[in-house]
Amino acid sequence: MSRGRTFRLAVAMTFAVAVPIAVLLSFQYRSLSDLEHTSLQVLETLSSQTADGLVNTFQSDFRSPRFELAEVDDDAVQRLDLAKVGAVLAGLGRAPVHVESFYVWSRVSGGPFDNRVLEFETRPSDMAADPVERFRPAGAEAETLLGLAEDMVRRRLTIGIETTTINGRPHVVVVKPRTDNMPADPGRRPNDSPIPERLLAFAGYSIDLDKLYNVYLPGAVSSVLDKANTRAIAPLVVTVLNEEGRVVYQSAQVNPGSFVDERTVRLLFFDPSALGLLRTGPWRDRGPSTWTIRTGYGNQSIASIAHASTASHRWQLGLLLVLTAAGLFLGARSLVHEVHLAEMKSNFVASISHELKTPLALIQLFAETLELGRVKTADRAREYYTIIHTEARKLAGLIDNILDLSRLESGVRPFQFEPVDIQDVVRETLRDFENQIAHSGASVTSRFHGRPLMVSADSEAVQVALRNLLSNAIKYSPQHKNVFVEVAREQSQALVRVADQGLGIPRRQRRRIFQKFYRIEGGPDQPTGTGLGLAIVDQVMRAHGGRVEVVSEPGRGSTFTLSFPMAKEQLRLHETDSRDRGRAPDAAGVA
Ligand code: ADP
Repeated sequence: MSRGRTFRLAVAMTFAVAVPIAVLLSFQYRSLSDLEHTSLQVLETLSSQTADGLVNTFQSDFRSPRFELAEVDDDAVQRLDLAKVGAVLAGLGRAPVHVESFYVWSRVSGGPFDNRVLEFETRPSDMAADPVERFRPAGAEAETLLGLAEDMVRRRLTIGIETTTINGRPHVVVVKPRTDNMPADPGRRPNDSPIPERLLAFAGYSIDLDKLYNVYLPGAVSSVLDKANTRAIAPLVVTVLNEEGRVVYQSAQVNPGSFVDERTVRLLFFDPSALGLLRTGPWRDRGPSTWTIRTGYGNQSIASIAHASTASHRWQLGLLLVLTAAGLFLGARSLVHEVHLAEMKSNFVASISHELKTPLALIQLFAETLELGRVKTADRAREYYTIIHTEARKLAGLIDNILDLSRLESGVRPFQFEPVDIQDVVRETLRDFENQIAHSGASVTSRFHGRPLMVSADSEAVQVALRNLLSNAIKYSPQHKNVFVEVAREQSQALVRVADQGLGIPRRQRRRIFQKFYRIEGGPDQPTGTGLGLAIVDQVMRAHGGRVEVVSEPGRGSTFTLSFPMAKEQLRLHETDSRDRGRAPDAAGVA
């Protein structure tokens, strides 16, 4: 298969997988954007719902004593019917924590508590106790309450509110008076009432401001917040500010200026319709106190939270994309590699059959000629024998190569390492190779290091590697068959270089030539081969803990270098020796 077709196949395969994956990922990305949008809306809704929920809770809790008190029968208050009033007030067991006490007073009851302000305990230790037992004479606040009620009647108002101190703590007291000339309109009484009014009785209650701020407010906020936070993807933060803009409560430490929703709630502990009729207290001039409620997500904006909520998914998506791309790349690469390998194998079969057949045919031809006695002269017969011998050696070399590589790869070939002078191995190989060199018309020059270069090596395996390098150097040098062999030392390495002035190897292929079956495609003049020689050299060098490298310039030649790690004792010997002699260790000699 040609390189172009292999490439097209890889591209087609990549597209077949990449396009559906890309479509899937784009859907996934779109759904992430939708998710972000939905998160944004959920966050907005949750914040505004929480703000509204808080307003409702506050309003209903602030009004709760007023509603309860409305149920208390005015006549029963006037008669100081404690059983009846107590039964109603006892039903307020669920009164918010800031509502401290209820009060009743009458000057026309005719009973034992006449003209005495009675306080009803809202939270007794025994809730089941007789409600009548929960009444007791009020403390110093009785004066304030009475004064408030009297003042209201004088000013013809139906509700009174006052801030005062009870038991050393700030309170708000609210009073609902009863006079002897009650108007039909519960708001304002007619100015022209002919009968002078007289305060007969009142009912009222007190709000503990400390408890309102320190107990009620945090409790009420957290009960609303807890419910909201079970649905939130980021914790909601509530900030409450008073009318001066001072933070009176915050559910978490954040900048009070960053919020999503803002609401105001009036601290109305009485009927809103009576707002204009207030007698006194801090509300007279400025209106009722207000709380500003802010809800939000701390210092984070909704958009950033919504974005962050999908960030991890986006990362995962990105990672998936990278992994898929990497997988596709590796898949395509290994496909190209496999196709290429298959291609090389088929080339191998073709060339190996050629490599086997050619020498066999020659051997057969010349052997038959000799056998039939057709050769007349002894010289001609010797020539034929030489040809038969050479071709047989070629065949043996080829078979050796195939067997060597398969044994090396499968690890069947046992290496027998022993300390050898690498120069001896090179010398021996050159000697064995002499005939072939002469036959091919090549010349080999060699240079050796002056002293022994001991390495731990399997001499036979190294010879196989060297033979391959030498035969390549001759084979791929069509014109100048000048081969140079050098043995040298470089730091802790013993180096064997085989240099030629042949075809050279293009840069792109310098790494691949060491792969099994790899051959550089050439024209019809390309020498035959199997693509196994350099793979064997590479395997042998790896087994020796060394390596093979090539430096080449196309058209100018190549230099293959085998580097062997030198034995430690050998290195020490070399160093002592060179110090003793006081000269460079390398000495050149030309063989
Ligand atoms: P073979 O020689 O049987 O093809 P090798 O594994 O020995 O297999 O070499 C692989 C390829 O490397 C060869 O096909 C050749 O193209 C290239 N090659 C090897 N040695 C040399 C050299 N000395 N000069 C130029 N090319 C070489």
